[in-house]
Amino acid sequence: MKRIAILGSTGSIGQSALNVVDAHADKLRVVGLAAGENADLLASQIDRYRPEIVSMATDDAVARLKPSRYTPPRDDVPTGREGLVAVASHPDADIVLCASSGTEALEAVLAAIDLGKTIALANKEVLVMAGGLVTEAAARRGVAILPVDSEHNAIHQCLHGHTHAEVKRLVLTASGGPFRGRTAAELAGVSAEDALKHPTWRMGRKITIDSATLMNKGLEVIEAHWLFGVRADQIDVVIHPQSVVHSLVEFVDGSFLAQLGVTDMRLPIQYAFSYPDRWTAPLPPLDLTRAGRLDFDVPDTDAFPCLRLAYRALDAERSLPVVLNAANEVAVARFLDGRISFTAIPHVIERTMCAHQPAPVESLAAVRAVDRWAREYAEREAGAVESKL
Ligand code: MG
Repeated sequence: MKRIAILGSTGSIGQSALNVVDAHADKLRVVGLAAGENADLLASQIDRYRPEIVSMATDDAVARLKPSRYTPPRDDVPTGREGLVAVASHPDADIVLCASSGTEALEAVLAAIDLGKTIALANKEVLVMAGGLVTEAAARRGVAILPVDSEHNAIHQCLHGHTHAEVKRLVLTASGGPFRGRTAAELAGVSAEDALKHPTWRMGRKITIDSATLMNKGLEVIEAHWLFGVRADQIDVVIHPQSVVHSLVEFVDGSFLAQLGVTDMRLPIQYAFSYPDRWTAPLPPLDLTRAGRLDFDVPDTDAFPCLRLAYRALDAERSLPVVLNAANEVAVARFLDGRISFTAIPHVIERTMCAHQPAPVESLAAVRAVDRWAREYAEREAGAVESKL
């Protein structure tokens, strides 16, 4: 029996993970659930899975948690970063699935690594912000970080049984999002509603906008660098609109291995839970004859400059990825509120990156300090763009 703690249990990945638990009730047990603000959904998850520990983002959210037979007294529900750390550190948890969005779970992931727990990582920000700190801690402690992001999960599968020296490059596939094929000029007037219509994946709002700008792929390039120990020039991105090939590895002899599958996050989540074994999955089969053709194309970084900005941040390899991520979160939130245009998102990020003096980030406090500075700077830049609208 593997015992699971889920950070972000009420989000889209968290709910899919519980679905995987339902399908393998004989092999998986939930011991901890950390939710954000959705008290109603957490209450029903508590009644169903009866975890040993739960946490929520805020006291307000806890106050909305309806008392039931299995709900702990409100004073026993920790909140915020401390709550995430408490759930991730629970002595009964073997695997911690980090699926909360944003950067709140950084301390929790490091705490779980310190305690020797396996990390199933669905959150990109943890590695983009603190990839060095997290991967060094995991190596020191001999802890596995199993990627749940579908591209990295695909690469993890392709690398199985191969050594680092055998790898020539990684190829991340990108669907291209809802605006694939459009020019920069055609993107100027698109709305948040248009951007939220992702062609192949159902995901949360922030990551769906990141897919539309290609920043999601940029963050994944940085994530791949830390997960697999490869340089930026060994990571390529190709546009693959069908999202059937989830990513590929090219080896030094010129051979490629690819992982293919349906676009359903339960597949990579289950892989992380079952690894190194494979279990049957209650998913529709991938029918290649119905998938028809598979297309691959070069990304247009003139129309989608966020991808280029991410490569630039990774090249600097110090604090710049933290700035990239923070400025992106600010800009995307403003775009979702209808306050800045789609094309202003990369503008705000680039202005913030240019204003930053890259420096080493050797502690979580240093990461948080750069993150704070970048958010404030990006808010001002976004405000300046907004007042010109
Ligand atoms: Mg992905």
